[in-house]
Amino acid sequence: MIRLRTATRWLAALALGAGVAAAGGCSTNPATGERIFTGALPVAQEEQIGKQSRPEILAEFGGEYPDEALQRYVQSIGELVAATSERTDVSYTFTVLNSDVVNAFAVPGGYIYITRGLLALANNEAEIAGVLAHEVGHIVSRHSAQRATQSALAGVAAAVLGVATGSSQVAQMAQTGGMAVIQSYSREQEFEADTLGVRYLSRAGYDPSAMSSFLASLNAHSNLEAKMAGGNPPEFNIMSTHPRTQDRVQRAVAEAGGYAVRNPMLARDIYLQKIDGIVYGDAPEQGFVRGRDFVHPTLGFRFRVPEDFRLMNGAQQVVAKGSGGAVIVFDAAQRRSGLPIVSYLRDDWAAGASLQSLERITVNGMEAATALVKGTVQGQPADLRLVAIAFDGTQVFRFMFVIPSRASSALIESFQRTTYSFQRLSAAEAARYQPKRLDVVPVGSGDGVSRFVGMMNVDSYPEEQFRVLNGLLGGEGLLAGQKVKIVTE
Ligand code: ZN
Repeated sequence: MIRLRTATRWLAALALGAGVAAAGGCSTNPATGERIFTGALPVAQEEQIGKQSRPEILAEFGGEYPDEALQRYVQSIGELVAATSERTDVSYTFTVLNSDVVNAFAVPGGYIYITRGLLALANNEAEIAGVLAHEVGHIVSRHSAQRATQSALAGVAAAVLGVATGSSQVAQMAQTGGMAVIQSYSREQEFEADTLGVRYLSRAGYDPSAMSSFLASLNAHSNLEAKMAGGNPPEFNIMSTHPRTQDRVQRAVAEAGGYAVRNPMLARDIYLQKIDGIVYGDAPEQGFVRGRDFVHPTLGFRFRVPEDFRLMNGAQQVVAKGSGGAVIVFDAAQRRSGLPIVSYLRDDWAAGASLQSLERITVNGMEAATALVKGTVQGQPADLRLVAIAFDGTQVFRFMFVIPSRASSALIESFQRTTYSFQRLSAAEAARYQPKRLDVVPVGSGDGVSRFVGMMNVDSYPEEQFRVLNGLLGGEGLLAGQKVKIVTE
């Protein structure tokens, strides 16, 4: 999801409600009647925070998903549950973000965001209603998110590299993995949001069990994501920002027993119809991981990592992990117009580090510079090979290759091949790369899971991905007449 802009810091404080806490004071939670100390803001100020943060949040999470019908559908589900809440002094705005990260969050002023990645994972309308009702619960209780937990910050591999070279920018490149604008709530706030969420879900006529069925899908998705990323915790997903556990959610559902729903609604078929064809995984403007290739059709380049390296497309950079501590970090930066690329590497990017063998090279017709830096990675000595490629007047693309001590010459050669695999894409080549999409297909009599697993267009774990996507978490089979989601290109 690499972008050309740097994340702003002011928003973090704003969206988190740091300003809210600073306002101090004490008010009453309209839903529980309890006094709360987070310091409620005047409604007008909440509205201002919501409005001001919106452009930044959209920029951080890929913008609004460009499907008006789907946006209207999600808004209508959100309004249905919000109308049953205790807070009607705010107007609620529900937005689907064009991001494959699985997340949802609430910003003061009634602004609730949900990603298309989360929509793809849900199996019925009640599950989405449950997510939105939970977020409405945060708005009603005026929860401000707490300081980020370590797990929320851990992000992709790069976040924990701990690179030290004497250059702050080089270290930073390895540390900013996946931090985003919204941080996590406390467990108490989560329980309260679930309790309120179940209440609104029931009042709106949905099946409250959707709350725990979707949490099971979220957990399974999070575990599979970690497995696919070689054991690294998933980057900034809903499980890190909303720390919830199955037993607490079930307790919330049990405590809401008084809101028994007659003929509870799941609305599975209509939901699957609404999300049929939705983009799945990265969108072209975020770049695609395709096996060993990273391709960015919008910016117009691609490169290939060595065999046995696992590519991850993070919020701020692309990371590829190999074995034995070998890592590639790739990102975008800007240089002053007219600054030679060698000077950029020496005086700007790696300022403060002691460079060895700084040289000018040419990568497929583009001017580039490279140097070796002796440093440490997680306290262990390691070499870092830096490569800066001048893409146009100001745009620079950068590789940082982490070479563990006693690395083989084969590894060093494979890193060279990755450097020289970086090339521009023509418009015609770029057009060949299309995003993956969800396809909703009917199950015929005699169709087993294996038939649909064979149709999954994914790089790894097709059966696990199919099961997680369809909530088939206990190894169960399929029923004729039911519809299932598969990933196609
Ligand atoms: Zn929450």
